[in-house]
Amino acid sequence: MTTAKKLILIVVDGMTPAAFERAIESGRAPALAALAERGAYRRATSVFPSLTPVCLSSIVTGGGPDVHRIPHLVWWHRGQRRIVEYGSSFAALRAAGMAQSITDTIFNMNQQHLGADAVTVFEALDDAGLVTAAVNITCYRGRTKHVPVLPWVTKPAYGPKRFFYYSLFESDPTGAPLAVRNRAAGSIDLYAAAVGRWLVTRDGFDFFAYYLSDFDYASHAHGPVGAEDVALERTDAAIETLLAAAGGADAFFERYAVVLLADHGQTPVDRVAQLESPLTMHADHVVVAASNRAGQVYLLPGARVDAGTLARALDRDAAVEVTLRLEHDEAVARREGEELRFRPGVSGWETSGDASILDHPDALHRAWSALANPNAGELLVSAAPGWEFADLGGRHHAGGGSHGSLVEGDSIVPVLTIGLDSEIARITDVAPAVLAHFGVAPPAYARVPARVG
Ligand SMILES: [Zn+2]
Repeated sequence: MTTAKKLILIVVDGMTPAAFERAIESGRAPALAALAERGAYRRATSVFPSLTPVCLSSIVTGGGPDVHRIPHLVWWHRGQRRIVEYGSSFAALRAAGMAQSITDTIFNMNQQHLGADAVTVFEALDDAGLVTAAVNITCYRGRTKHVPVLPWVTKPAYGPKRFFYYSLFESDPTGAPLAVRNRAAGSIDLYAAAVGRWLVTRDGFDFFAYYLSDFDYASHAHGPVGAEDVALERTDAAIETLLAAAGGADAFFERYAVVLLADHGQTPVDRVAQLESPLTMHADHVVVAASNRAGQVYLLPGARVDAGTLARALDRDAAVEVTLRLEHDEAVARREGEELRFRPGVSGWETSGDASILDHPDALHRAWSALANPNAGELLVSAAPGWEFADLGGRHHAGGGSHGSLVEGDSIVPVLTIGLDSEIARITDVAPAVLAHFGVAPPAYARVPARVG
């Protein structure tokens, strides 16, 4: 075991690199600027679909969707023959069944859906005898059993040693205000900040995952640029709370190494499509699961249609930019009737067809990882710029922002590291970088990130 500095992982949901860079330059975000002044900054790639449950699971496990098996915000559970919905919208939760969806989001995502072979950073550090802590992060699986605070919820959850989750799980009495009082006014991050203040004041952890979700919420409503007026100062204040709790920036950085990143970006959307509409003729054979800027189509057992036919049915759909499917041992990306075939070879990707079909950041790797997820649909759909797919409840964010696709704006995130030796080029590099920082071996599936040289 090394005597490494304690480490705080800050995840700002949905903050684009442009928003981060403007925040530093404009002087509107003094806490972010204090971090940037001492850190190494770069841009990194997210996973596909670039949606929060998929991204946070990737950050926390160091594996892509092929490893952690969380495929989307909404998906078809083949074994249980039912839709799983993690909260695309309140209407989508209601459409999928409110009680089931709440259980899926709070408990099953970690206890049943998250891959058994995936190792969370909490599990790895817990096993190494370090004290882990987390607030609000949706991928939280750890070794410590926690009983809910609310008397009418009786199921326990297994999380980090110090575990705070939307006022539902609280391993310690911190006096934090209720998380869900007023989402739009920032009550979720105020809750996180109160917990963060309590933890930093006590220096009560070795590793702390500090997840701030309100920026993404504002960006959905106001667009990725509009969010800066609504939520940037609140996000910055939540980070400032940690610095102040340590006695100021110098004392804070004396004590802690930091990784700050977003889980995905956002892009403006002004048009809405129903992904099931162009597939109506196949409705008896498929289940369509779509939300934000990504969709999946699942073939039902005995379906008399294949994924290639479904892909061709979407050729002239303006909302669809790229579809992805597996054929034998190859992946096939299709865009406007043209196809690119690819698979991993001994010395890099083997491809045939038009390479410009997947001209998105890190696209072959991200597409392959998404397709190799056993919970993914047979056909994956990445939305065209400006388009969103309505969710199960018919809701969308047209006029605001969204994410989920392969396009650059949804896929690139800002990353800031302070006191870390590893270079984070993909969000899946975070967990192995954190483990390396503490001298803990990463899981075998994880790529060991390059050292800062
Ligand atoms: Zn979002």
